[in-house]
Amino acid sequence: MPSEQVDFAVIGGGPAGAAAALTLRRHAPQKRVVLLEAGRHEKPKPGEILPAVAQGLLRQLDVWTPFAAEAFVRSRAVVSAWSDEAPDERHSMFSAQGAGWQLDRARFDRLLVRSARAAGTEVRIGSAVRSAVREGRAWRLDLADGEIRASAVIWATGRNWRLARSFGAKLRVHSHLVAYTRFFDRAPGDCRMVIEARPEGWWYSADLPDRCRVVSCLTDPDLGSELRQSKHWYRALAATRFIAPLVPPDAHETAKLVKSAGTATVDRAAGERWVAAGDTLFTADPLSSRGIVHALRSGILAAYAASDMIDGRDELARKRYAMIAAQGFADYVPALAARYAAAARWDTAFWNRRRPQLEDRAANHAVRAFSSEVGTGSRQENASNQNHRARF
Ligand SMILES: Cc1cc2nc3c(=O)[nH]c(=O)nc-3n(C[C@H](O)[C@H](O)[C@H](O)COP(=O)(O)OP(=O)(O)OC[C@H]3O[C@@H](n4cnc5c(N)ncnc54)[C@H](O)[C@@H]3O)c2cc1C
Repeated sequence: MPSEQVDFAVIGGGPAGAAAALTLRRHAPQKRVVLLEAGRHEKPKPGEILPAVAQGLLRQLDVWTPFAAEAFVRSRAVVSAWSDEAPDERHSMFSAQGAGWQLDRARFDRLLVRSARAAGTEVRIGSAVRSAVREGRAWRLDLADGEIRASAVIWATGRNWRLARSFGAKLRVHSHLVAYTRFFDRAPGDCRMVIEARPEGWWYSADLPDRCRVVSCLTDPDLGSELRQSKHWYRALAATRFIAPLVPPDAHETAKLVKSAGTATVDRAAGERWVAAGDTLFTADPLSSRGIVHALRSGILAAYAASDMIDGRDELARKRYAMIAAQGFADYVPALAARYAAAARWDTAFWNRRRPQLEDRAANHAVRAFSSEVGTGSRQENASNQNHRARF
């Protein structure tokens, strides 16, 4: 089997992995960086709303010009029927940051990987990493067609945590949620994103490029399993007040997806010459709309941490990165719990699990996330955390 030696291997070519590779190439241009992506960025992917705040990160990554040239749909307004039946409409013109974007996610991901390649990253598409083994001072990554030895690794495989054991990390699932998503080939073209709370969970829909539309229902896995079947999904859609009219009668369904969408973290943000980034580090509920921004930001920070590691500042890099990750999670958890509590107006299983008193439990969780690195939390707390499967 051929074996190659590189300085940095980035596993996963989503926004986190691409941001890490772009940053490594700018920060350490003399180092060899390889990006390994299992898929081909061809299939439809959920995660379409890019908040306006992403502009600064895209500029920092030097991809703003090609991004702007893609002319994704500008997100002009968000309509939400959330805390009561009357919809609340917020226009981007009243936001200091302006309008965000509604993306074709596969196209956006391809753009980032293309930019990473143009910046000097060696990109291997269709190259899944099967396992990672620590050998001396390097990581050996096993691929279908060979192996790679890397001085440091950025682990950015999204919600695929199969490599957790290789890195000695454990997954902590904080809340369960599943998205039942369908894409359509027609859209009203009004550039608004619509969110509607319903007894079974909540729905969102947005215009996408090429006049397509995404419609998704998010609920708990034990409550929504029948939504896998078209007849149940369309019946539930018909009962919505604001989402159903967004699917024109002549629209055809072009794809459907079922994806887990709850909150999860790994118990260690970084370890011996490895750093987790994006969803792998901390995967957010889509209600927060922060997944892509978090992926880009953590990819950038992970690149600096990995770079510090191979420059001999391992412990400092690990601690600093873990503290930033813990702070991000501590900000997210109570904000999300409050957002759910604001819509808890039905006496149904989905909303009863998200009642306001759960905010306290949520805040507790936030304090304990990544506690093994940042040094808070007792051993007993950490052990109970690893086994815990709480909802908030
Ligand atoms: C229903 C739903 C709606 C969402 N809506 C939004 C939204 O509106 N706005 C928003 O900002 N976020 C949203 N998100 C979240 C957003 O999609 C993610 O946070 C974002 O994609 C994370 O980027 P990432 O790079 O960490 O992971 P990913 O985008 O998942 O990329 C990981 C990559 O790693 C590759 N990979 C996996 N395993 C391996 C392996 N072993 N070897 C090599 N490669 C591998 C995968 O093929 C993939 O390309 C949503 C998520 C869901 C589920």
